[in-house]
Formats: sequence, structure tokens, C-alpha cells
Amino acid sequence: MINNKKTTAKRFLVIATPPTPNGDLHVGHLSGPYLGADIYCRYLAMCGTEHYYISGVDDHQSYVSLKAEQLGWSPAQVADYFGDAMETTLEAAEIQLDIYARPRKSMYHIPVVQQFFKRLYSEGKLVVKETLSLFCRVCNRHLFEAYVSGKCPHCEHPSGGNACEDCGRPNDCADLIDPVCKSCGSVPYKVPLKRLYFPLSEYEQQLRQYHKSLKMAPHVRALCEQMLAERLPDIAVTHVTDWGIPVPATGFENQRLYVWFEMAPGYLAATCELNAKLQTPPDWTSYWKSKDAAIVQFFGFDNSYFFAVLFPALFLAGDPKIQLPQTFVTNEFYRLNGLKFSTSRSHAIWGQELLRQASSDAVRFYLAHTGPEREQCNFTLQDFYQTVQCELIEGWEAWLQGLGQKVSRGCNARVPLAWQLEEDHENFAGALRSLISQAEAAYQPETFSPQQATRTCCELVRLARRFGKSEDHWSFVRGRHVRWKTSVALELLAAKVLMMLAAPLVPSFAVKGWRALGYETPLSGARWNEILEPLPVGQALSGLVTLSFDLLGKNVQMSQAAV
Ligand SMILES: [Zn+2]
Ligand SMILES: [Zn+2]
Repeated sequence: MINNKKTTAKRFLVIATPPTPNGDLHVGHLSGPYLGADIYCRYLAMCGTEHYYISGVDDHQSYVSLKAEQLGWSPAQVADYFGDAMETTLEAAEIQLDIYARPRKSMYHIPVVQQFFKRLYSEGKLVVKETLSLFCRVCNRHLFEAYVSGKCPHCEHPSGGNACEDCGRPNDCADLIDPVCKSCGSVPYKVPLKRLYFPLSEYEQQLRQYHKSLKMAPHVRALCEQMLAERLPDIAVTHVTDWGIPVPATGFENQRLYVWFEMAPGYLAATCELNAKLQTPPDWTSYWKSKDAAIVQFFGFDNSYFFAVLFPALFLAGDPKIQLPQTFVTNEFYRLNGLKFSTSRSHAIWGQELLRQASSDAVRFYLAHTGPEREQCNFTLQDFYQTVQCELIEGWEAWLQGLGQKVSRGCNARVPLAWQLEEDHENFAGALRSLISQAEAAYQPETFSPQQATRTCCELVRLARRFGKSEDHWSFVRGRHVRWKTSVALELLAAKVLMMLAAPLVPSFAVKGWRALGYETPLSGARWNEILEPLPVGQALSGLVTLSFDLLGKNVQMSQAAV
């Protein structure tokens, strides 16, 4: 099977990092792990490979309780309200999850997380340490994560508590430069506090081994190498707060588990939920300890340290037989008017806002086409509109509708027979094969690139249109009609190939296009290894002349918004 060239796995668990429910999903979120993992899963489906897509919400983040204070709500109300909103946004973008894990609503989450903690604690893998904690006397609380901002001790860029989004490295809050309380703006005091810490440095050798086998982007690998070149820090896994999962250990009753500690076993809990949904025993080991399963993890670069260092070390400490993800697929930041998208600063174009203005296909195409894969990119509504107009309407739609008209006029709206291929036909077929290989590479997790996938589709459209226009001259030549019909059959094959290549990117359009080419069996039943099988001769086209992305009504609003 094509996708299994580099692994023996038969089943794939595809995980996208759960977003924080302190606001709805913005375009920056959508363009990253969520759309990426959905595209990958849709490709796996076409390969006939068993796969499951897990994500959810990160209910117990301190950003949720901070938002609750700002809104005058309870943290639970915030988590539930935005958890619902995010689910609606994912559905509107046709991002199809198998499990949308919600820690507050799962019957597995808290027991699995607490059991994982107890195992580490009882085996002495967590240590009690008295360290300095930031304390705000105005707000009367210890500051960590969302409650504090300052400058990162590693890169000196503005950073929140516990991790820096810029350089991706952890901090211990008390080591932030010029820290201030996010609620009241006061300068906090440093007070001694006993917490439980996880000593990362004890797993250094195992992490080095793991990173050697792991497939990940150079930016993440560079961060790992940089962190491992220095001594790995101890990470506080409990904090004084009343929002989160209680620490099941005597002496820490006023503390809660650090939400990023919670997330690692949280994935095991979500796997139990998946198995329960599949009506199999709710046992996470069926994926996390099974040799025939592989785990592919999607996340943004700012979360790299958690996925590449903290979680693997926690899993190694908790149970060395747990298999770690084999591949990381990461993205960089999307910027809006030059600044990073941010939920907490409300600097964003919200997913639902954009999906009201444009179809899910248009949004998915644009985000895949321009998403920040290896470098930060800037999103503008004007470029969105122009790209959709230029590539999808004047490119894909125009070619396919023209092809439909040609087949209606010259072939009675049916697929003609391809006779002997001449050199130009062979060259075009070769170009199609090469484009399929490029798309295939773009959909492999090791070389994953939605940008490459959209560009391959656009190049196919350009080449097919060029080929069709060139070949149309034969339709006027006496005795050469057979050559022309052969060319039309090949152009229709290119249209079929486009629907399959584009199905992970623009699923609704691909389904419509498949039907327009006359197929009565669903596109979901089409398999990647049959992609070059010609359309059945005589198959009646059904609406190719009017096939469209249905953007017209929405376009008017989009163009107005863009100017
Ligand atoms: Zn304060
Ligand atoms: Zn930093």
C-alpha cells in the first residue's frame, strides 16, 4: 500500500493537539493541525487504510479560567461554551474527527490521568521541590502560565508562564524577566512553594534515541538538539490553583495537575473513548502498545517542546512499553496584518466568520495553499478572494466547464474511446503520472505539504487545459477525429485524477465533480491505486458543464469585504 512504504503499521492514530477553549477557533488554528490532520486522514481513506482522527479541547488550561474572570463566567461555562463553538467550526470546515475529546465530559479522562499520575508518584518519578513561585499580593494568588507575562529567560521575547511561544522553550515562571500579573498588572513577589516536579534530565539518553528515529521538521529538531545540548530542566507538574484536575497526593490538596502533564495521559483516555465508540474494550493499549498501529501527531511549532520532549519523557517514565509517535507534522504561525493570530488578544479572523462568507472548499483550499508550513505567513482577506477567483473560478471551474461543453458538442456528452496513443498523448499521460507522484509525496506525513498538494492540482488544471486546447485543432482535420477523441478521453482522465488528488483538500467539490464525470459509485469508494484507470467508455457525463464551487453569492460579499 502506498502510504505504508515507510512503516509496517496497518492502523493509524492521527492526533491534532487540542485547542484551548478560551475563544472560538480562528483561521490560524484551522490552517494548522486541524486541517492538516483532516487532509491526511482523507488521503489515508483513499488508500483504504484504517485510521482514526482524535482531537478535542483542552478544558483545564489556565487561559480558560483567566477568560472566565474577564467574562464574569465560571471556568466550566467558558470551557463548555467555547468547546461547543469549536466543534461547530470544525464541522463547518468539514474537518471530520472520530473523537472530539472533552476532558470535562469524558468518563475516562480524569481516572486515566490520575492513575497515570499515581503510578509516576508512587514509583518516585516525581520529586517534591521547594522553589520560588511568583505571587501577586493584589490578586492574592500564585502566578503561572496564563496569569503571568514577562520576557523569556532564553530568547528575551515576550512570553507567558511555563513556555515561550517564540523559541518554544519552557520556563519556571520565577525565571521570567520582568514578570507582571496578567490580571492586575502588578509586579509579583517571589515566595517559596513546594510543588511536584518531573526531572526531564533523567530521560535525556532515551530522548536522544527517540529523536533519532522520529520524523520531524528541522525547526523542531533544532529545538530538541538545543535543549538536549544544555541540561534539561525539572518541570513543575502541579500548580496552586482551583481549576484543573486535583492532585491525588497528600500534602498537595490546594494544587492541581499542570494541564500539559494532563494532556499526555489525556491522549490515552481519548483512545479509550475511541475504542468504546468502536464497541471494542475501552483499552488504550490497543494502539499505544500495538506493533501494527502507528501514531502521527500534528501540532504548531509553539507546542514543540511538549510533544517532542515532555510527553515522550512522561510516557517513558509511566510505561516504557508505550510506543511514541513515529512522525510529527508541524506548522508555523499564521499572521494577520503582520501580527500573530491570538485568541487571548482577539487578534484574529474567526473560522466561523470566514466560513459564513465563503464555502468550506474555498476556505480549505486557501488555507492549504498559503498555510505557514515552514515559515510564518501573512493572511489577508483580499489575497484570499483573489486566489479563489484566480485559481478555482478562472482555473478549475473554467477548464472543467469547457471540457463538459466540448464533450457535449463533440461526443454526445459521453466518454469517448481512447484509440492508439500518439507521442503527445504519451507525454501528457507521463505528466499526469508525475503529478500523481508529487501529490502522493505531499500527502505522506514525512513530506506532508498541503501547499504542494494544491499547487500540484493547479498545475494539473493548467497542463490539462493547455493539452486540450492544443489537441482541439485535430477536430477540424478530416480523418483525424479519432486522435481528437483520444485526446478528449485523456482530458477526462485528467479531470478524474483531479477529483481524486483534490478530494482531501476540497471534499465537497470533489464529490460533485466525481458525479459530474458520470460515476454512480461514490468517490469515497475510489482507491488511490486505481487513480489512472480510464473512465468507462460511453459513461454519460452529468452536469460537468455547470460544475462550480458555488461561490457566486458568497463572492459578492467576499469581494466587498476585501476592498
Ligand atoms: Zn494581580
Ligand atoms: Zn523564548
